[in-house]
Parts: sequence; C-alpha cells; structure tokens
Amino acid sequence: MPRFLLAVFLTAVALAAKGPVYVVLWFDTEDYIEPAADDAALRIATDLEKLGVRATFKVVGEKARVLEARGRRDVIRALAHHDIGYHSNYHSIQPTPALYLRRMGWLEGAAEFDRRERPGVADIQRIFGVMPSCYGQPGGSWAPQTYRGLVRLGIPVYLDEADHVGVDEQPFWFGGMLNVFHMGRYLMRPSLTDESQIPRAFEKFDDAAEALEARGGGVISWYYHPTEFVTSAFWDLNFANGANPERSDWKNPPRRTAEESERCYRILARYVEHVKARASVRFVTACELPRLYESTSVRVVDRAQIARHMAQRQTFLVTEAGVLSAAEMLQVLLGMDPAVVEGPVARGDTTYREKEIPRAAFERAKTDAAEFIRAGRRLPGEVWIGSKTLALADFAATLASDDGATRAVSVRKGNPEIEKYIATDATQTFDWPTHPDGFSAPELLELARLQAWTLKPARLK
Ligand SMILES: [Zn+2]
Repeated sequence: MPRFLLAVFLTAVALAAKGPVYVVLWFDTEDYIEPAADDAALRIATDLEKLGVRATFKVVGEKARVLEARGRRDVIRALAHHDIGYHSNYHSIQPTPALYLRRMGWLEGAAEFDRRERPGVADIQRIFGVMPSCYGQPGGSWAPQTYRGLVRLGIPVYLDEADHVGVDEQPFWFGGMLNVFHMGRYLMRPSLTDESQIPRAFEKFDDAAEALEARGGGVISWYYHPTEFVTSAFWDLNFANGANPERSDWKNPPRRTAEESERCYRILARYVEHVKARASVRFVTACELPRLYESTSVRVVDRAQIARHMAQRQTFLVTEAGVLSAAEMLQVLLGMDPAVVEGPVARGDTTYREKEIPRAAFERAKTDAAEFIRAGRRLPGEVWIGSKTLALADFAATLASDDGATRAVSVRKGNPEIEKYIATDATQTFDWPTHPDGFSAPELLELARLQAWTLKPARLK
C-alpha cells in the first residue's frame, strides 16, 4: 500500500478505535450597534483561517445589512470563507420570538415566524451568497413554532444552547431538524479574558473529548460572540427587560482596550491549537453536520419490538438497526412507511369510556388516523372512535397492545414518556435580560411536549 494510503488507513483505524470527536465552533455575529464588532468578526475569521479551522458564523439579518451599509465587504468576504448560519432578523429588538409566539398555536406561530424572519434569510442569501446552514434563537427566545418555520425556509440544523429540549447532551432530531442544543458537559464557553483559566478549560475539554471517544464519538459545541472580543458588556442591554428605545437613543456598549482585545484573540488561538492537537478531533461546521449523522429515514426495525415498546411507553427507541421516534413508530404500527411528520397542534382528550372497542370501529379509527397523518404530514392530537376520542398517547398504547386477532380491542392508557425531555420550568428556561422581567412561557413548553413525538437521539454514521 502506498505510504499516503497507509497513513490514511491508519488514521481511519485510530478514529474508529477512538470515536471521532467533532467540535462545532460557532460565533453569534449579532452586534449591529458597535462598529468595532465588525473588526472583531473579521479578525476572528482571519485568525481561524490561518489556523486552518472553519467555524460557523450565525449572522443576524440586521448585522448583515449594517455590514453592507458600512461598506465592510472585507468582513463579509472573510466570514463567507467560513460557514454562515442565521441568528434571527433583529435579535433583541422587541418583540423577540418567544414573546410574540407565546400565545400563538403551531400553525399561526410558524406563519408569523416566517413573516418576520423570511426577509432576514433573504438578506443573508443576498449579502453572503449562501443559504444559511443553521439557525439559533436570540438569547433565550426559543419557541417550538420556529421549527416548522425553519423547515419551510429550508434551514436543516438548529445550532444554539439552552435547555428547553435535549437528549443525553448530544445532537438529536426534533421538529424535522438536526439539533445541537442543551449540550451539558459537551458545551464549552471558557473565559476569553482570564489566562489563568486556560489549564482548567483544557482539562474540561480533554475530559469531554475522552468521554466521547469512549462512547464511539460525538459532538462538542463551543461558542462565542465576536462582540465579546471588543466590548465588556452586551450591546443589546439597550433592549433589556423589554425596553423599546428608538435607534437614535441606542447606546454603544463599553469597549475593551486594544490590549484586552489582543488577549482575547490570543486565548482563542490557544484553545483552538489545543483542540487541534488531539488526534480524534475534527472541527466541523453546521453545514457538515447532517452528513455525519444518519438521516431521519429509519431502517427496518422489527414491528413486534416496536409494538412491545410503544405499548409500555411512548418515547423514542434505540436499537442496533436504527433509532426511531415515537412518531415514526406510530406510523409503522399503522402500516405506513414512516415519514418525517409534525407532532399534534394541540393536546387531545380521551372521551371514550368503554374498556373495549369493537374490532370494526377500531380498524376504521386506524384508517382514519393513517389518512390524517398522510394528508397533513402531522400526527392527530386525538383519534376518533365514532363520536368519542382517544388522546394520541392512549391511541398509540392501545394500537401497540392490539394483536389484531380479537373481536374487541382493549383500551390502554398511554404513557407519553417522551415529554420528559422538555423543560418544565417556564420561567427559568426563558430567563434572558431582553425578555420582560418575569417572562414565562408555559404555552411554548406545552407545544414542545406535543412536538416531542418527533424527538430522538441522532446517531453518527
Ligand atoms: Zn445572540
């Protein structure tokens, strides 16, 4: 074997032995007030390019327009050498997404998100010449309806950090998107200002990388904002606590000295060099992530195994053959080819009070449920048995327990265990200085619990 191929082969063997660790380094490029933040973005993009690393710059629509208006083609060009994501049209200008989506349902909310955000995506496309590879919400302004909006905008990856939804501190599928979110110990954001913290940051990274190597590979998420390198407080404090100042009243954030900024750039370079030195590690962008993970289409898993699982609990199933969401398994049980579908728009109710359902009535309900899913690419919140209903989880448990042979089908109570992956504290999860004081959005978490039918861990290819 030629020496080059041998080297490739040995590297591949080493990577297989120690699961590959993918580091997603991302920068929320959002400060459209302080012009020095433009220079910071340029400097970071250039430094990283010299280090041979591609990062993901999630750009705010207004930031892209401001770069254009300020004639900063140099910044736009430098960022475009990296991966470009989307970080909302206006970031912190009120109302932010969770605020305007809180009292909207699934469809209305997605349409409103589209109305407000589509122009921002178009501007990113026009200015950077690419479709954004990913989206992440401004601050803590997460909302489930954005997923439907983003899928329709053609954005396949959700890249951000918060704790509204998550599985096992690693990437997962939710709402038709690949998510890098709620990454726990695999989230890195070490200090850019305190050099004495560097050894601890190295240690934390090494521990995380080692743990991922041992479990066959995974993702480490690492992020900053270019503005942090040149300012000592966030630019969007202008909009703190629901504030709505006029543009002419916006105040520039406090600046770091040139020396302080240089230290930030130096510390970032040291982190990057440390990460690069580890054999199992590769930097990847949001754009590359979908190629690393198995797609949402499922391989064949034994129907009997699915039935046993879904009869007990309605949550995802991890098997050798594949990873299935509750939504996919429900479709299999209905005799359908599992497609990517949405969760219900509203929580259904069980009004059917008998212990058993006559066979013919249940078969009609199954046909009706399958047609509903096929027609709308969405799960029903409840399934009709004549004039009565079974809530989706109860229907799924009943369907999974049915052997198809009896004259009547025993009604089973559902156990939608999948909902436990959605946060329950509706105040703390939305705690963000830009939200009005005490802002709480239990409605959004409830909608997320319904969409959790689509949730499952993502598996590396
Ligand atoms: Zn942000």
